[in-house]
Amino acid sequence: FDDRDGLIWWDGELIDWRDAKLHVLSHGLHYASVVFEGERAYAGNIFKLREHTERLIASARILGFEIPWTAEQIDAACVETLAANNYTDAYVRPLAWRGSEQLSVSAQNTKIHLMIACWAWPNLFGENRMKGVRLGLANWKRPHPETAPTASKAAGLYMIGTMSKHHAEAEGFDDALMLDWQGNVAEATGANIFFAIDGKLHTPTPTCFLDGITRRTVMALAAKRQIEVVERIIALDEIKDAQEVFLAGTAAEVTPVRAIGDLTFTPGAITETLLGDYEALVRLSPEEAAQRLAA
Ligand code: PMP
Repeated sequence: FDDRDGLIWWDGELIDWRDAKLHVLSHGLHYASVVFEGERAYAGNIFKLREHTERLIASARILGFEIPWTAEQIDAACVETLAANNYTDAYVRPLAWRGSEQLSVSAQNTKIHLMIACWAWPNLFGENRMKGVRLGLANWKRPHPETAPTASKAAGLYMIGTMSKHHAEAEGFDDALMLDWQGNVAEATGANIFFAIDGKLHTPTPTCFLDGITRRTVMALAAKRQIEVVERIIALDEIKDAQEVFLAGTAAEVTPVRAIGDLTFTPGAITETLLGDYEALVRLSPEEAAQRLAA
């Protein structure tokens, strides 16, 4: 992924994709002092850009560092990077990390860096998306919020995601369903999860995982459709009661789920309606999108 044309924004400058190299003694690489965002541009606009930027800044603060750019500057840098690479539809990845000035657990003297890259990435699940993905049960659990900075989109938290996803893939699944530290349903490895049960939409309360921007968008879209959304603790043995299941995340967008382990589901009216509403919403201008959700 490092040998290709393109421009990457790095600490205020656009540099050649191939030159965007990091020193191996960076604190972020050794101690996971890294936070990032995953955003999508549709038809030239980055969907919910300010919310992503604010989460990036908040994620860094949770890890104890301040990104040396304002939200306005970060928004502008994302837009600039997208335009410099001639994309209207792309995935946008800002990432902030501690530099190489100090290599110990204490990192008070490190410089904070920010980079933004973007690339074409149609959907996390590619061609499997529309026929519905299959989830295996993860072999790792989401940690207690006092055990890890679970409200931060911190790179270190993805360690259990990658291990769980590899485990699920080895068993022939597309992704893993992660449970929380108590054994209740949490999320997939890179997206939140929704269950349609008897006409209502149920989703786990995000006590130890990201309250995704897509998740909140889907909840707002459901409300517009008079679909009741119930945010609650969902036990693993309740998923058999669901008629429909889908994932929601920036990279996954709205993706139907057709199996969790041995249980099978058929995407139906609720999934199709919200998938369609989401696809339409993201392609509106930010002003139109805000109006669509407010009206
Ligand atoms: N959970 C995890 C672990 C994720 O990586 C993501 C993607 N950022 C989400 C949930 C969904 O968040 P969002 O809708 O803000 O992309």
